[in-house]
Amino acid sequence: MMYSSRRKPVLYFKDDRSFLSRKCTIWKLFGLCMLFVLGSLLLVQLTCSGDMSQTVGYSHLPHQPCPVERQSSSADDPSWGPHKMALIVPFRERFEELLIFVPYIHTFLNKKKIRHKILIINQLDHFRFNRASLINVGFMESGNDTDYVAMHDVDLLPQNEDLDYGFPNEGPFHVASPELHPLYHYKTYVGGILLLTKKHYQLCNGMSNRFWGWGREDDEFFRRLKAADLKLFRPTGINTGTKTFRHIHDPAWRKRDQKRIAAQKQEQFKVDPEGGLTNVRYKVESRQEVTISGAPCTVINTFLECDVSLTPWCQSS
Ligand code: UDP
Ligand code: MN
Repeated sequence: MMYSSRRKPVLYFKDDRSFLSRKCTIWKLFGLCMLFVLGSLLLVQLTCSGDMSQTVGYSHLPHQPCPVERQSSSADDPSWGPHKMALIVPFRERFEELLIFVPYIHTFLNKKKIRHKILIINQLDHFRFNRASLINVGFMESGNDTDYVAMHDVDLLPQNEDLDYGFPNEGPFHVASPELHPLYHYKTYVGGILLLTKKHYQLCNGMSNRFWGWGREDDEFFRRLKAADLKLFRPTGINTGTKTFRHIHDPAWRKRDQKRIAAQKQEQFKVDPEGGLTNVRYKVESRQEVTISGAPCTVINTFLECDVSLTPWCQSS
């Protein structure tokens, strides 16, 4: 039988046999013990983790409790100031991006001493993706301990630490501004990452729930900001241009749902004067506290409801 150069079992037997046949001294026994102890320690290190990215690879190994100091901070240090942000991520089937995003943004915000909690609003129903409704759900579920929200795409990673994520007291703050966003450069763009005080978000009645599938919900929200007489702010003094964000979005893998069904073609450009926080219909199926590479987040598994007589385009076919 032929063996490749990386597979030579005969040689291993030869080595083992010559080793065992020699006289066993105290020192050899001591060395073996040390090897055993080191091996055990390594095994504990690999299996002891609540870290999802590690659990994926080692899920067959038993789980063991970990020393507390391995977990990073809960991102809620009151000495960082009175404000706390609910970072809302509208989400469906972007698992690989999530594994990168949560630890990245948690570390980024901690470095900047921004108190925060990360809420992943996971759309479970079979309707088309509805980014705006999921953000409304995130707002409703954000709790009394937060006083401002960041609507944040899962695939946008801020690269410049000078970007401001602080409390947007004066008015909505569009972090992913058109001069800095890698893809969208039109003046009225407010998508990607937008911060608002809860008071201001409420003043707009949140976002419209009529947008199913990709796009336009952010453009409608721009018109709500205008209608509510809110002044929009954008970053200044950032000189990293369109390299300010990394957009971890492979369009071949993550196809945008740009179908326009029935009246959606006309309706997508209209304002929705009534709908928003006041008419979002949903059920929270469950909540899960998850830690990804030491970064905590809450996954809120959500079923959106759709009135098919009002927006028949919520269904794919
Ligand atoms: N998104 C998602 N699953 C989808 C579609 C969108 O999780 O099937 C979320 C995700 O947070 C994403 C955001 O909605 O970053 C915006 O969608 P997308 O990245 O497709 O739009 P783009 O801004 O790249 O045009
Ligand atoms: Mn994207």
